[in-house]
Amino acid sequence: MSKPREVEVLPCGYTAKCSVPWCGRRATTVLRYLDNHGRPYRQTDVCGIHARELCVGMKVIDRRP
Ligand SMILES: [Zn+2]
Repeated sequence: MSKPREVEVLPCGYTAKCSVPWCGRRATTVLRYLDNHGRPYRQTDVCGIHARELCVGMKVIDRRP
């Protein structure tokens, strides 16, 4: 399977913790990974810092208002 190349960035509208295990911060961002056909296949809640880190090298579609 090829690596995801596109990710949608959305605001996190519910209370959740960052999905990075060693990070205890509150998730403020939802990352929705898109497959090669532009379909979402995986979603993860992360804090702002990890949102930036996980988007490195990806095409980012910012859906935040
Ligand atoms: Zn985090």
